[in-house]
Amino acid sequence: MQIQSKLPQVGTTIFTVMSQLANTHNAINLGQGFPDFMMDEALVEAVNQAMKDGFNQYAHTNGIPALREAIAEKVYYLYHTYINAETSITITPGGTYAIYTALTTILQPGDEVIVFEPAYDSYVPNIILNGATPVFIALEYPNYAIPWNEVAKKINNKTKAIVINSPHNPTGAVLTETDIQQLSNLVANTPIIIISDEVYEHLIFDGIMHQSMLRYPDLLERSFVIASFGKTYHCTGWKLGYCIAGEALMKEFRKVHQFNCFSCDTPKQYALASYLQGKNKYVQLCIEIQKKRDLFRSLMKETGFVYIPSHGSYFECYSYSKLSNKCDTAFAKELVETVGVAAIPVSAFYHNKTDEKVLRFCFAKKETTLQEAAKRLKYL
Ligand code: PMP
Ligand code: GLN
Repeated sequence: MQIQSKLPQVGTTIFTVMSQLANTHNAINLGQGFPDFMMDEALVEAVNQAMKDGFNQYAHTNGIPALREAIAEKVYYLYHTYINAETSITITPGGTYAIYTALTTILQPGDEVIVFEPAYDSYVPNIILNGATPVFIALEYPNYAIPWNEVAKKINNKTKAIVINSPHNPTGAVLTETDIQQLSNLVANTPIIIISDEVYEHLIFDGIMHQSMLRYPDLLERSFVIASFGKTYHCTGWKLGYCIAGEALMKEFRKVHQFNCFSCDTPKQYALASYLQGKNKYVQLCIEIQKKRDLFRSLMKETGFVYIPSHGSYFECYSYSKLSNKCDTAFAKELVETVGVAAIPVSAFYHNKTDEKVLRFCFAKKETTLQEAAKRLKYL
């Protein structure tokens, strides 16, 4: 059987490729972004309890009210913005799904969507699947800042949306107040929608304040804000997240959502609703994970890799230009095969495979894992 591919240019995602290669060679996997340490057992217990208490049938299609209320409370606590849990929050099976649903909700064939590269690898296929066109803008190497002049030039009457991601995957760059000002100025008096991927909202370092769309009413009214419990609570395999948007946008989002997954895992929603009351868990996450970034960075100083500062996320990028002239995919493969450490070649996040000789390392790992990885990288 042959079918016409909807994604003829797309192969297997780099995360699957590198994780498989790491498994084959029994390498330390600092590629795909997931923790190798245990999540909080109290949260696991809470899920068990919810199952024992009989919460095992379909949840409300928008998510159980208690969880949506808890999210609204968290948003108020962090950003001083009141969100209507009934009309503006939907629980989703992960952040990736929420991004896809938001794009599917708004896009018509012929629309354009501005995407900054390097970009998390689901955005572009999601845009193409909806018959729209990605418009690429390269972040400025090596600090990966947004070139706003370029954005101004690329906006036209076909521009339906801009995808932003802060803290940023793969670079760990974060939006500043000046970026927010630039964005506000550019979208004011236009119908442009913002897809704001904030799955690393609680993973921000160096005392920097997260510039959430949830802080800015003029931006929030045109935004879909995407979050992921997987990243916040070290349970990426749970695939649970949520989307926040104004009532009119959310009404349309829910039309798509109800016929795509209908509802999400019930016992986990009950568990998360009570677990979210513990503010310390998400407030202190930045301290816990920054320690890992700092440790990995200091260990990597003993190697030939040069860091490109990350201010958030699970990741830090490193230039290897002092070590090899090979292209980044070949070098990443060589690292797995010869020293037993997997990383992600950053060219995978560009449509034209821009190769700055940079690899992305995930530092959300046990100290011993980071130490062993750095030890291996030292002898390159
Ligand atoms: N956006 C970015 C930038 C990510 O790195 C990820 C990976 N977790 C996601 C979205 C998706 O999150 P989830 O695992 O909840 O689908
Ligand atoms: N977000 C994770 C990363 O960037 C992986 C998600 C995935 O495997 N799709 O590594």
